[in-house]
Amino acid sequence: MPEPIGRIRRLSTTLANQIAAGEVVERPASVLKELLENSLDAGATEISIDVEQGGVRLIRVRDDGRGIHHDDLALALSRHATSKILTLDDLEQVMSLGFRGEALPSIASVSRLVLASRCRGDGGGWQVRAEGVAAEAGPEPLPHPPGTTVEVRDLFFNTPARRKFLRSEKTELGHLQEVVKRIALARFDVSLRLRNEHRGILSLRPAAEEADRGRRLAAICGAGFLEQSLAIHDAGMDLRLAGWIGAPDYSRSQADLQYFFLNGRVVRDKLIGHALRQAYQDLLYHGRHPAYVLYLEMAPALVDVNVHPTKHEVRFREARLVHDFIYRSVARALEAGGAGAQSAALRDAGTTPVPAFPTGGSQPRPGAGKVREAMAHYAALTGVPGGGPPARSGGDAEPPLGHALAQLHGAYLLSQNDAGLVLVDLPAARRQVVHQRLAAGFAGEGVRSQPLLVPVSLPVAADEAEAVESHRDLLTRLGFDLARNGPESVAVHRLPALLRDTDPGALVRAVLAAVAEPSGAADAVLWTMATHSRGDAAAVTLEQMDVLLRDLETQEGQAVRSQRPPWIQLTREELDGLFRR
Ligand code: ADP
Ligand code: MG
Repeated sequence: MPEPIGRIRRLSTTLANQIAAGEVVERPASVLKELLENSLDAGATEISIDVEQGGVRLIRVRDDGRGIHHDDLALALSRHATSKILTLDDLEQVMSLGFRGEALPSIASVSRLVLASRCRGDGGGWQVRAEGVAAEAGPEPLPHPPGTTVEVRDLFFNTPARRKFLRSEKTELGHLQEVVKRIALARFDVSLRLRNEHRGILSLRPAAEEADRGRRLAAICGAGFLEQSLAIHDAGMDLRLAGWIGAPDYSRSQADLQYFFLNGRVVRDKLIGHALRQAYQDLLYHGRHPAYVLYLEMAPALVDVNVHPTKHEVRFREARLVHDFIYRSVARALEAGGAGAQSAALRDAGTTPVPAFPTGGSQPRPGAGKVREAMAHYAALTGVPGGGPPARSGGDAEPPLGHALAQLHGAYLLSQNDAGLVLVDLPAARRQVVHQRLAAGFAGEGVRSQPLLVPVSLPVAADEAEAVESHRDLLTRLGFDLARNGPESVAVHRLPALLRDTDPGALVRAVLAAVAEPSGAADAVLWTMATHSRGDAAAVTLEQMDVLLRDLETQEGQAVRSQRPPWIQLTREELDGLFRR
């Protein structure tokens, strides 16, 4: 029997809305997210949330935002009605959280919804209702404070199949709380209250002061995270990254404390995840997850957030640049705070690290490094004990190379030890330390490498291109992944992570030349690599200089290639002698 020919018919509005709801409204938490985003878009500073039975029976959000004009109330519940964009140009610049005009009608199509609102300056409030189908009657007046209340009852009452997919009340409540936490971390300036079955479970005051922000962070992520986190503040190439990352020795068994905000909205993006995993690579044991709360800001036109209806995935115009910026900022912060120095310093200084971004304002934060630096300088000048950088490992003994005091012309490091003054040749010291680390990796599992997001193609000499093939294993152990892609051309896929700041072209050519050398011993190649490490970016703060000094000390016993040590000791007697005292 032939199938009857299906005639084309227009979907009913309700069905169209329910189909859209399938995309937007997955569970109570997705309803709450849409409602909270609407409140924030309306400029709310105080939001209170009531939920019952994991949000299935009730989700009510009340805000003190600008409200909805009573003539627009019914319109707000109809599809593709939005006050947020008018033109495609607006879409490029859109900073508000929702803009599709789909949320309210979608939610209304699968619940019993009441929308009540009062515009500022209006005498009273108005409300409309919808039960599965679009609003029946026109708005009715009711008493209401300025702002908006959206009440969503009996979610999925008319779509039982959806309802079956919901988890236990407790699980759904967990999801609801997670939504509130994300908003709370995104907007430190907004007061938030969450009540479950009439009992308050979260109450967050606006956090304008730094101490309040720390308190909010601790309330959401736990005091342990706040204590063991490093603050990040980095800017460059029109990108700004701020926030907190777990110190290397703080990790979690689940990836449950990872918040990344892009221009104020939570994203879970593969590219960003990759950059962060890479920064933590080798620092965490297998199966452990880093913790972070990070805020990235960039021009809205450089990122497309309209990729997915729930807007967790984004598309960057300059993906590689963003990736490398995040990776580098986090890796650097981890390196600098590797011994827990930075978080300890922050506690010492009595400040709580707080990024400037969550409220949109920017304010300079007294840097922890600065405080410690000032204390160290003070101690060096006055001889008052206790002010200088504390010894890293237990024990009171002064480390042989002492503690850093300052840098001279970016080329020398001055350090005070028991004997007097140590003068360190910075580039040489840096080379030696990098060589030592590369050599350790080489002798072990191979030098730790880092993939380039986009491979680079390099013109090289024919014998160098051949070296890529004939010395493949050696190059892999040195941290390179290269592929010959022409008679005189090589594609670079991975580089040693330690040398990530160097010019890949110069580095690869030098290494290929050294490898192609008939007598090319591995150690000579390692020195070539170390020579290419860019020293000027490292050892900027006193803490980083101290790390360098400790690294030099551990190498002392290891008879480094009959090289002259990259430092000299000036004893107090020698110094006195200079002045014939
Ligand atoms: P969108 O947020 O994508 O514009 P919604 O369906 O979520 O679409 O909301 C439709 C419109 O209703 C919004 O554009 C806004 O004008 C209005 N609106 C919704 N919630 C609120 C609120 N809490 N306060 C003020 N206006 C609101
Ligand atoms: Mg919306």
